[in-house]
Amino acid sequence: MDLTRFPRRRYTEGYTPIEKLPRFSEALGGPEIYIKRDDLLGLTGGGNKTRKLEFVVADALAKGCDTLITCGAIQSNHCRLTLAAAVKEGLYCRLIIEERVPGTYDAKGSGNNFLYRLLDAEKIKVMSGGIDEVAEMEKTAQEVEAEGRKPYIIDGSNASALSALGYVACAQELTAQLFEKDLHIDHIVCPSGSGGTHGGLLTGLWGSNTDIPVAGINVRRSKELQIAKVYDVVKRTAQFLGIASDVPKDIVVCFDDYYMPGYSLPNDKMIEAVKLLARTEGILVDPVYTGKAMAGLIGLVRNGYFKKGEKVLFLHTGGSPALYAYLDTFLTE
Ligand SMILES: *Cc1c(COP(=O)(O)O)cnc(C)c1O
Repeated sequence: MDLTRFPRRRYTEGYTPIEKLPRFSEALGGPEIYIKRDDLLGLTGGGNKTRKLEFVVADALAKGCDTLITCGAIQSNHCRLTLAAAVKEGLYCRLIIEERVPGTYDAKGSGNNFLYRLLDAEKIKVMSGGIDEVAEMEKTAQEVEAEGRKPYIIDGSNASALSALGYVACAQELTAQLFEKDLHIDHIVCPSGSGGTHGGLLTGLWGSNTDIPVAGINVRRSKELQIAKVYDVVKRTAQFLGIASDVPKDIVVCFDDYYMPGYSLPNDKMIEAVKLLARTEGILVDPVYTGKAMAGLIGLVRNGYFKKGEKVLFLHTGGSPALYAYLDTFLTE
């Protein structure tokens, strides 16, 4: 897979580290756990959206656009990083923020919400939940055009084939890095949201004939729906790359036992996972994605899915700025 055919901006120098987690592994008493630190990617606060944006922003620049428009929730890492990329490139950025629970947007809120303002988004439009985000972004694009500028819309789920290339590139990086380290990994664990990360990674591994199984931990929907979503990303991305698209569906593996009571809502397993990693390794995972994915890893160790003697790699997709908007969830002792 030659990714050099696609325009790409680089927001991270070199590889993100792969670290061994000896104290965390010992606390679990099962396999050896490793972590791929995509939370240390470039742009404000790092995280998986940085890899996706490398291809998406390069496309916006190639098309001569000067204003990025996107949408997301109040604590959206995607909005924070899209804005950060705009700042870095000298572009404008307008955000549509969806207030899913009425009255929860606070202009003085913490976490990502605070960073939207610190990085100075040109406009933040707060809309009530259930709005037609696409129509709203189109409307904003027309406003930008009326001012004589050129908008570029990035869809809120950011799971286009173009953005999934970020995780095809990550798969290439990972295989090169494991070879250099002479490290054989038995399983990879990653969060599965829009499926762009999970699907991109699977496509990249498939395209490089690497058969390390990937366990996706769902953060917002049932197994059945999520598998279909991720498989759709895999097929679209494989087609976009022009590689064999007869990828078998059974490479998509998802677990849906860790996200309830729902997207972005805390549960005890997530709280345990955030605290355990922080207190054994000093690494922060977030309440919405990586905390639940790590809860999934812990659950799969405890139920024997991952065995002693195996090596399991956790893909840390970032998100820790959102922790600061969840103080009440963690400060209960
Ligand atoms: C967006 C996000 C995810 C989910 O990635 P998808 O590609 O949407 O599945 C996981 N972790 C963090 C921290 C995120 O911000």
